Amino acid sequence: KTTRSGLDWRRAQDFLAAERQTFEQRNPRSAALAALAQQHLLFGVPLHWMTDWGTPFALHVDSASGAEVNDADGHTLTDFCLGDTGAMFGHSPAPVAAALAAQATRGYTTMLATADAGMVGRALSERFGLPLWQFAMSATDANRYTVRWIRAATGRRKILVFNGCYHGTIEDVFVDLVHGQPVQRDSLLGQVHDLTEHTVVIEFNDLAALEAALSKGDIACVLAEPVMTNIGMVLPEPGYWEAAQTLIKQHGAMLVADETHTISTGPGGYSQAFGLKPDALVLGKPVGGGVGCAVYGMSAELAELAVKAKQDAPPGHSGIGTTLTGNMLAMAAMRAALTEVITPAAYAHMLPLAERLANGIRGLIAKHGLPWCVTQVGARTEFQFAPTPPRNGAEAEGILDGELEHLIHLGLLNRGVMITPFHNMMLVCPQTSEADVDRLLAALDEVLTQIVNR
Ligand code: PMP
Repeated sequence: KTTRSGLDWRRAQDFLAAERQTFEQRNPRSAALAALAQQHLLFGVPLHWMTDWGTPFALHVDSASGAEVNDADGHTLTDFCLGDTGAMFGHSPAPVAAALAAQATRGYTTMLATADAGMVGRALSERFGLPLWQFAMSATDANRYTVRWIRAATGRRKILVFNGCYHGTIEDVFVDLVHGQPVQRDSLLGQVHDLTEHTVVIEFNDLAALEAALSKGDIACVLAEPVMTNIGMVLPEPGYWEAAQTLIKQHGAMLVADETHTISTGPGGYSQAFGLKPDALVLGKPVGGGVGCAVYGMSAELAELAVKAKQDAPPGHSGIGTTLTGNMLAMAAMRAALTEVITPAAYAHMLPLAERLANGIRGLIAKHGLPWCVTQVGARTEFQFAPTPPRNGAEAEGILDGELEHLIHLGLLNRGVMITPFHNMMLVCPQTSEADVDRLLAALDEVLTQIVNR
């Protein structure tokens, strides 16, 4: 008998084979739609990542609303993936739907501001405590532009990131720490630049490494999620950010807080909840209720330097921005999302529910005697295949198990529950109910019962 992560791996393989069959039988309409897409779309899907779900063929969706996704075969799935955060405040939130409907016949894009622009800026300033804002089409781009502004503003060329981080497809971050050495991620396609030249990578929660890297005086900024959420989850140790921020300031670098996922903590993200004072803050995904857009904010000091850098630069392309950035439709969506959807009342519902979910999973881990743990940042909960939470990216990476994740996810999907295809992340939204959480727990219990050691 082979044991893996506390499971009977033979039983797990049998379970996977049966679940693949169930999926095929359950989803004939998706199968037909996937067959058509296969003929005309590269990899058979709009974005090749969509094959990462690990289903026998691409599950197709008919519609999504609140905490539910209706698939093409008429099943209603309880959604804890929520578009991997894009729909963290529910699918088609009513105020955003109304704002989009109102804008729908009034133009989408003019390269000019509407009345929403200043209102969105004010809402962001009040919420995050940073005075000046700009927009982007994705969190990826918001990170890319923020890094560019800071390099231009400080005249420093390097950035520092944490091993195992993810900030979208901004090129600079794909440098891993392998046996203490920076190594460009070998899975990148078509990347011909040497990313290690301008990216320094260290482990999270390692203040000595941070100090050593910063002391060379050439780091423009530290780009970080306040909690690492893309390699499983890694929480900062108590006092880490306080000390790290002091070091960053002391060495003339800046801190960029990428709150795209950690907005799960509360209305002002992790930074407001835990007293971080970043020089810049990035938020994408849910900021427009799931409509494609993103924002980034700057401190007064950074903004002043950024404006000066632009004024001092020769006339011509800045290399920052895209044509549809700040378009009328996105601005309408953001105004509605920021003023009516991403509210304290929403968090008042989500946070206790996530607590219920986290505790429920702890209960299942105990019941089945698994060497697993649960980590949580507000409305975002993760179960991880180790008895204690990882302290850095290397530890977190060491306990990932893609095969095991996929078979659990497929088992849940066949039982009407969806979680994110990457690691084991679960989000609750304002429409998620206690009954939804209990449905997830019951489905996970059923899956685990079939694959644990007997
Ligand atoms: N920042 C973080 C922390 C993310 O997790 C992601 C995506 N998972 C991004 C940025 C990029 O978002 P997008 O793919 O929407 O550009």
